[in-house]
Amino acid sequence: MYRDHMDIAYDKDILIKPTSRVPMIGREYGYYTGPGNPLFSLGGGLVRSILYYILTKYHVKRGYYVVETPIIARTTLYELTGHLSFYRENMFLLDIEGDQYALKPMNCPYHVLIFMNLLEKYSHKIKLPFKVFELGKVHRYEISGALKGLMRVRGFTQDDAHLFAREEQIADLFLSVFSDLKDLYEKLFHMSITAESVKLRISLSDKSKIGEEYMGSPEEWSVAEEKLVKMAEEIHRRYGIEYFAAKGEAAFYGPKLDVIALLPDPETGGKKEWQIGTIQFDFNLPRKFKLNKLLEKTHGVSDIYMIHRALLGSIERFLGVYLEAYQGRLPYVLSPVQAVVIGIKSGGDRDAEVVKYAEQVASRLQEMDVRTVASSMDRPHLSGYVRKIRSTLHPPILIYIGERELESGKISAALYDFSRRNYKKITLESMDDLGALIDEAEKDIRELIGNPPRYYVDISYMV
Ligand code: ZN
Repeated sequence: MYRDHMDIAYDKDILIKPTSRVPMIGREYGYYTGPGNPLFSLGGGLVRSILYYILTKYHVKRGYYVVETPIIARTTLYELTGHLSFYRENMFLLDIEGDQYALKPMNCPYHVLIFMNLLEKYSHKIKLPFKVFELGKVHRYEISGALKGLMRVRGFTQDDAHLFAREEQIADLFLSVFSDLKDLYEKLFHMSITAESVKLRISLSDKSKIGEEYMGSPEEWSVAEEKLVKMAEEIHRRYGIEYFAAKGEAAFYGPKLDVIALLPDPETGGKKEWQIGTIQFDFNLPRKFKLNKLLEKTHGVSDIYMIHRALLGSIERFLGVYLEAYQGRLPYVLSPVQAVVIGIKSGGDRDAEVVKYAEQVASRLQEMDVRTVASSMDRPHLSGYVRKIRSTLHPPILIYIGERELESGKISAALYDFSRRNYKKITLESMDDLGALIDEAEKDIRELIGNPPRYYVDISYMV
């Protein structure tokens, strides 16, 4: 049921399915985008824009500078970085006015250029470690047969950052990135990052392929890999999380630590492994750009390293994985429909008043920029209706208004609790308590980034 991630969620509006079938206007829009290029429609566009806001605020609060870099660049940039020799088969190459360009496969080279430019301009005023963040769109070639839903696409957005640091700073920085990752998953996505729910894969080089698939010397790789193992040991000591080594899984510029999450698999009722974040140690690219020489001039030091890290990885893939694991449900702050208010009609004289009261409650929530829809249903059909709303719109808040609520002024609400994977009932004394209910729903995200984004959008067509 959830195998095709394009069709998941509130309705068909989150995504339109890219397909290679013959186009029929009105049904197969995705044909025109080509395979592997999902079109995010109304629900998907909204989820992404809120997620971008949250990720930007989260990174700025943690000392990252936000940048944006172009989708295409001259291939000379990728010659310098080694991408053209080590990563060519994954790149889309273009010819523009006789010059060769490539669609950006990774954001890193641009971030190095930005760092160098700042060093030249502001010299030692640029403090180390220096952290650059981008929600960067990258394109990587995959054969069409390998493309799958949102899991494997040709164009995707990374929550990508590069941290430039001296050798003595690397260990602390690495661990702080891991602790930030834990915070993000737990407070935004309600996914626990513990020994029970994740493990770490130390992705190492294959020593027989150094020079061919991996840049640098065998000695340098050994030193870098040893450092990475130490970090994994420290994470294990602090959080009890296990790690294992995987030979031949490193990036071409350095070894990496991949976080593997065990997520619910609705198909089997068991758990399924997914790679989520990655933290990578790079001793190659800084040297390719002669960053050490530049830093000698500006800071009088030359031991410069880079950490590449993406906490969600690919936003597209992450949303696909999450929607599958949680059966279409998103956290409160990201839900396209955050609250549904249902007026319960009993067939009596006061039905019109009940419906009106439900609409008043909904508009009070809308005034607070909560994405709320008002609806009503006859009592005999109520349970089927609620089931349908829960399984299609997944609203984190459900509010019921009947004659009893009308008389007492109280409000019966249900708030989704991720830890129990179920709704918990809350009775509000009056409409004035709606603010407290929203505060409760926003508690975790507020701890993560301060005031969360609130966008009201009229999504009443969904109900
Ligand atoms: Zn990178």
